[in-house]
Amino acid sequence: MPTDVPALLAALDGVPASTDRALVRQKSRDFYWYSPILKGMLDGKAADLLVTPRDEAEVLRVLTACRAAGVPITPRGAGTGNYGQCVPMEGGIVLDMTAMTACRGIEGGIAELEPGVRMLDADLWARERGWELRLWPSTKRTATVGGFVAGGGAGVGGLSHGTLKERGNLHSVRVATLEDPPRILDLEGDEAAPVNRTYGTTGVLTLIRLPLTPAQDWRDVALTFEDFSAAGRFAMALAHADGIPKKMCALFDPRLPPFFREIADVVPAGHTLVVASVALSALRAVADLAREHGTRIVAEQDTVEAERDPKRTPFYEYCWNHTTLQVLKRDRGFTYLQMRFPMDDPWPTVERARAAFPDDLWLHLECNRFGGRFAFTCLPVVKWSGPERLAEIMAGLEAMGVSIANPHVITIEDGSAYRRVDGDQLGFKRMADPLGLLNPGKMRSFTKVAA
Ligand SMILES: Cc1cc2nc3c(=O)[nH]c(=O)nc-3n(C[C@H](O)[C@H](O)[C@H](O)COP(=O)(O)OP(=O)(O)OC[C@H]3O[C@@H](n4cnc5c(N)ncnc54)[C@H](O)[C@@H]3O)c2cc1C
Repeated sequence: MPTDVPALLAALDGVPASTDRALVRQKSRDFYWYSPILKGMLDGKAADLLVTPRDEAEVLRVLTACRAAGVPITPRGAGTGNYGQCVPMEGGIVLDMTAMTACRGIEGGIAELEPGVRMLDADLWARERGWELRLWPSTKRTATVGGFVAGGGAGVGGLSHGTLKERGNLHSVRVATLEDPPRILDLEGDEAAPVNRTYGTTGVLTLIRLPLTPAQDWRDVALTFEDFSAAGRFAMALAHADGIPKKMCALFDPRLPPFFREIADVVPAGHTLVVASVALSALRAVADLAREHGTRIVAEQDTVEAERDPKRTPFYEYCWNHTTLQVLKRDRGFTYLQMRFPMDDPWPTVERARAAFPDDLWLHLECNRFGGRFAFTCLPVVKWSGPERLAEIMAGLEAMGVSIANPHVITIEDGSAYRRVDGDQLGFKRMADPLGLLNPGKMRSFTKVAA
């Protein structure tokens, strides 16, 4: 049903809104264009109206008006999601949450944050108080806290804390439902699982409480290796070094570092690069570990100083899904995958995957923890040779025991795999959004339960 924009604007009763076509189109997109498949599916989709509530009361007013008029609602943070999570499939409104940016306070090591606050701002604010975020996406400098909880959930910090689906990493949320009438729920602990990484289909987050960790001084370090396997041995040794506090450790196929502008020069041609973020107090231990593995630290910087300076690149912006971006900035002939190698003893499978797809796959491995066990998460850069070849590669990898969270689909069910948060998300959706107006099309198993 087309949105009756003038009637909706009247019902919004003063909540900031825009009908500017260019702006509404821009805010109806995210980073889905990494995937040629999603690009074909989503280009041109747009909302009818952009609405920017300033507080929880305004969120409720918007939801009440949209429910009454049967208007779809697509929540949005910074729009850095990769699977078209912010793309309205059926028009309606984009609910821009970036005006709700308060960091309310810290109590008992738990930060209370509004959903639109940037991850970097939340972290710097916490650091001033002796704390820091446990986890952030490599888009920390742009992404919002709400978008990370609803659409991301993995990244820097995962080597120490796992992902956001790990019990204890998300304390609680306040969430606005689309019941009759819409209301606010306070969900704590396991109760919050149905709104964790559900792309805004199960409610609008209005407040998020994140447990923090005591602040430390972090150093980005880079090391290079003549041999890919030697780099793998080092990365796994660092990942398991209990005396070395670390936020991340990643290694890159030798074809990737030339795309990393600020550190390309320190990586000899054909060498494998490892970057890590380690505590300043452990720099000597990392240098010793490097020597034991026949190499040394070739570049180093203060992580927080680098991320505060827009002209500099913190090393995490070579990692996670920034690796693909660094390549796509120069060559659009690539795409990517998201996968996880078998736990505990991944290396034989890593070598098999490299050998099976030497030209298609440029491996990039992230050391991570899942349920207390070590695993390599992998976001390989993939040469784009069409959907059939991509399907062949995925099938080949799965046959080797690699788990794939397919980033070329738009639904939670089809794309999440090992990233899916446990809990009755479908049951919660039936209760919280019976008309199916919240980000329609993104939860495949849902069918409308009321008219
Ligand atoms: C270069 C690059 C690197 C990336 N690296 C990582 C990474 O390391 N780890 C990772 O997890 N992701 C990564 N991503 C994906 C994305 O950046 C993160 O998931 C990020 O946290 C999303 O935040 P956002 O504010 O941009 O959310 P958006 O893209 O705006 O939204 C994401 C989802 O959350 C929903 N949403 C947003 N706000 C709310 C709210 N208040 N209530 C309910 N639903 C809401 C939206 O509807 C959407 O479905 C990367 C993406 C890019 C382009």
